[in-house]
Amino acid sequence: MYRKNAWLKYNQKETKEVMKFAEGYKAFLSFGKTERLVTKESVELLEEAGFKNGNELKELKAGDKLYFVNKNKNVCAFIVGKKPLVEGLRILGAHIDSPRLDLKEHSIYERNGFALGDTHYYGGVKKYQWTTIPLALHGVICKKDGTVVDVNIGEDPKDPIFGITDLLIHLSADQMALPLAKAITGENLDITLGSMPIDEKDKAPVKANILKLLKKKYDVEEEDLISAEIEVVPAGPSRDYGLDRSMVAGYGHDDRSCAYTSLKALLDTDAEKVENTACCILVDKEEIGSVGATGAQSLFFENTIARLAELLGSKNPLFEARKAMENSKMLSSDVSAGFDPLYPQVNDPKNAAYLGEGIVFNKYTGARGKSGSNDANPEYYAFIRKVVDEANVCWQNAELGKVDQGGGGTIAYILGNYNMNVIDAGIPVLNMHAPMEIVSKADLFEAYRAYQAFLIA
Ligand code: MN
Ligand code: MN
Repeated sequence: MYRKNAWLKYNQKETKEVMKFAEGYKAFLSFGKTERLVTKESVELLEEAGFKNGNELKELKAGDKLYFVNKNKNVCAFIVGKKPLVEGLRILGAHIDSPRLDLKEHSIYERNGFALGDTHYYGGVKKYQWTTIPLALHGVICKKDGTVVDVNIGEDPKDPIFGITDLLIHLSADQMALPLAKAITGENLDITLGSMPIDEKDKAPVKANILKLLKKKYDVEEEDLISAEIEVVPAGPSRDYGLDRSMVAGYGHDDRSCAYTSLKALLDTDAEKVENTACCILVDKEEIGSVGATGAQSLFFENTIARLAELLGSKNPLFEARKAMENSKMLSSDVSAGFDPLYPQVNDPKNAAYLGEGIVFNKYTGARGKSGSNDANPEYYAFIRKVVDEANVCWQNAELGKVDQGGGGTIAYILGNYNMNVIDAGIPVLNMHAPMEIVSKADLFEAYRAYQAFLIA
């Protein structure tokens, strides 16, 4: 169903089902504030659904369900199909990192009676949006003795929260004259950690108290923070948005909305119906270019497919993995820019994504003449149209904004490099990359149904 509002398609029972599906997503999003936490909850969901840790398996056969985790930040799950692996997989790939602020390695400092935490932002952020909102800290501190301490402060209503101050309007004459991009600087995105001095002889008595509290709570020294990964993210759970509760407001819809719907699609797939091996891959580091060991450019995925071939008895697993990838079909599950009624001027209305009209396909993303995009083959797009239409899914086609207005990228081109067919397919988002993003519950559900249909197509 091309360009139909999904809410008009649902009967009462279906509307209830859509609302119920969103409750599962809200819980996933509220917990999954970092790629590590999303990995953790994804593994829980996989194990609940009978998926086994691939590293513990000695052999595989059709119908088997398994998963692999890479460095606690990257997940790859499969249902083994009836067809040989070399005939290709059906892959859903989403990313589980989101824009945020990371504490620097040497972060804590004292100035004018305050202890502050220095940060470096991660991914594309409009810096002014991160001031004067409740923030939480999540992450790990890794000690030399090998212990890993989990940090989670600011989500429990009894916890303290953190924040970044901004000037009072009364004294903002100079600041208000600056362009938005310059009014708040990256170096000034520092969180307030405390204001209580403990010893007036100490040169930094407030900082000393913060370090004392960290020592007491986590048994860590200041130097341990050098090997830590503490992410500063919006505090609090995701919520229903709008009087009609048709939308979800929350942090990290980009791209955890597509991660959840993709994973759920795999979890709910009947192994009996899987012909080509079905796969869901959740990657890290998309927001900074998909680089590194846990990003989409990592060899982890290719190695994992080779491992699968090996477990299926292949004599030449690396070659078979390449062949399998070349014959695969993929949906790069990533969010799209939803049409914002307050800013219609940035879109070409006939090639824009509208909230409520279902899963969005982007033939290409990129910027300045499609640069950096995957640009899916039309033969493949025709196949995808058939799959979603036959499944009675609401879908739409969009570009990321008007030509020369800006642009963006996804992981699509990286898997495209394996010569597989890939198209971007995801959920339209308002306020993308803001601390509070918005999606439609109908689009979550339509994406989930589209992903399910794709896995067995
Ligand atoms: Mn994204
Ligand atoms: Mn993004």
